[in-house]
Amino acid sequence: MNVLVINCGSSSLKFQLINSDTEAVLAKGLCERIGIDGRLTYQPAGGEKAITDKAMPTHTEAIQFVIDALTDADTGVVKSLEEIGAVGHRVVHGGEKFASSVVITEEVKAAIEECNDLAPLHNPANLIGINACEGLMPGTPMVAVFDTAFHQTMPSTAYMYGLPYEYYDKYKVRRYGFHGTSHSFVSKRVAEFLGKDYEATKTIVCHLGNGSSICAVNNGKSVDTSMGLTPLEGLVMGTRSGDIDPAIMEFIAKKENLDIDGLMTVLNKKSGVEGVSGVSSDFRDLTAAAESGNERAALALEVFAYRVAKYVGSYAAAMNGVDNIVFTAGIGENDAAMRSKICAYLGYLGIAINEAANAKRGEEIVISTEDSKVNVLVIPTNEELAIARETVALV
Ligand code: ADP
Repeated sequence: MNVLVINCGSSSLKFQLINSDTEAVLAKGLCERIGIDGRLTYQPAGGEKAITDKAMPTHTEAIQFVIDALTDADTGVVKSLEEIGAVGHRVVHGGEKFASSVVITEEVKAAIEECNDLAPLHNPANLIGINACEGLMPGTPMVAVFDTAFHQTMPSTAYMYGLPYEYYDKYKVRRYGFHGTSHSFVSKRVAEFLGKDYEATKTIVCHLGNGSSICAVNNGKSVDTSMGLTPLEGLVMGTRSGDIDPAIMEFIAKKENLDIDGLMTVLNKKSGVEGVSGVSSDFRDLTAAAESGNERAALALEVFAYRVAKYVGSYAAAMNGVDNIVFTAGIGENDAAMRSKICAYLGYLGIAINEAANAKRGEEIVISTEDSKVNVLVIPTNEELAIARETVALV
């Protein structure tokens, strides 16, 4: 079956058409600047990438252009819509309502809408994408795959904040976690790759990308993760602060005369390694700057590594041990120097890195030495494939 995987943002929409039998990507692309002007990037497997400006006042036009591109007589990869058996939608927040992926119905859409409060930038956009697809592909089954679902196995000890309990009762303020599709995909793949029983291993997944999070997966279940009610908690990220003393909010608000919106913009968009370095949120830029003597860029990289190492330590404690530590996503997969830097803090776990293996790129690989007490690996994540698999399993 061919599955169309859709990841819809407020002004953008990423897509992949995946053949679920071969797991090959038939075509992929991106619609950008929806509601502004509109640009479609489309690339069939083995073909040229084409970028065209097209008016996209709403997501409906964007999805129509995606369908037109996929079925185009010259560069398309299917003859008609009939060859698309299902659509898998990434949905950011499923609150406590969704502990797994679901086939989309009117009730499911209403339940996703009820979670809008928890992800005001993402869930409404995800729903717009779902509605637009339903309008253009009536009768095609659609599945919602939630970023939060995998973490619904977290125990209350891990998800409760030290706040008045009534906020949990009234508003469902608790830790949810994100990147669940990636953490689930990667942790399963590690067990498979090592020939171990997923239900009997302790794995810490370090998903280090623009947004970064860590997850403790004990016997196949997420038992803790670093993001919380929102994706702002946890690691120091590209532009997000991660954990801070909450009293800093009041302190800076007074000093800088900022309101809550202004503060949130600082914490989400002007902090993280970009904020610390004043250089960039991109680790390639930071590494280049650090190498040419920029001390704040070097500091930002060190702060990032230290925070990751602290979380790894706390999750080894949370699981009373760890068998595997895995790096994935943009930084985790590509930045060998960062992996070394992080692992240098982990000698107490009996970890030793094979630097020759660590220097390789783009493959699933064990980067720890044979006598290392914990396996350290790089496993490329593939959220789209994970969404396609979930979708096929449900339809
Ligand atoms: P997201 O999916 O969260 O947007 P990614 O997982 O694609 O992010 O990660 C993007 C980040 O990965 C970039 O901002 C950059 O910091 C980092 N990155 C990508 N390639 C490299 C590389 N070769 N070396 C170091 N860092 C890299």
